[in-house]
Amino acid sequence: MSTDPRFGGPGPDEVWRTALDEGRFLLQHCRTCHACRFPPAMVCGACGSSDLEWKEASGSGKVYSATTVRERDNSYNVSLIDLAEGARMMSSVGGVAPDEVRIGMEVRARIVREPEAIVLFEPKEGGAW
Ligand SMILES: [Zn+2]
Repeated sequence: MSTDPRFGGPGPDEVWRTALDEGRFLLQHCRTCHACRFPPAMVCGACGSSDLEWKEASGSGKVYSATTVRERDNSYNVSLIDLAEGARMMSSVGGVAPDEVRIGMEVRARIVREPEAIVLFEPKEGGAW
């Protein structure tokens, strides 16, 4: 499957979204410098190569930063997650109270439909939804 619109394939955002809708969490890996990147793009953010390939993410990550967003009826967590593959992703950690999300906490990805498929995270140990 081509991921390059110049060759008539779907663009990177569309590839990512289509896979996610099918329950697969994919990440782009650069064949030139082996960097892993997120969000999906046409070229590697590290070396500028367009020779990227898709691989299924392990789903493992660690919280890099965590912020609790408080609204009147609801508060939720916005976190940056360092994925095991090396990319950093903005998401949210569920399964624990928003202010109990800690930097360095080990998390795993979970695809949730609400109704659009999105990638959220939950603590690796305990706290399952
Ligand atoms: Zn690269």
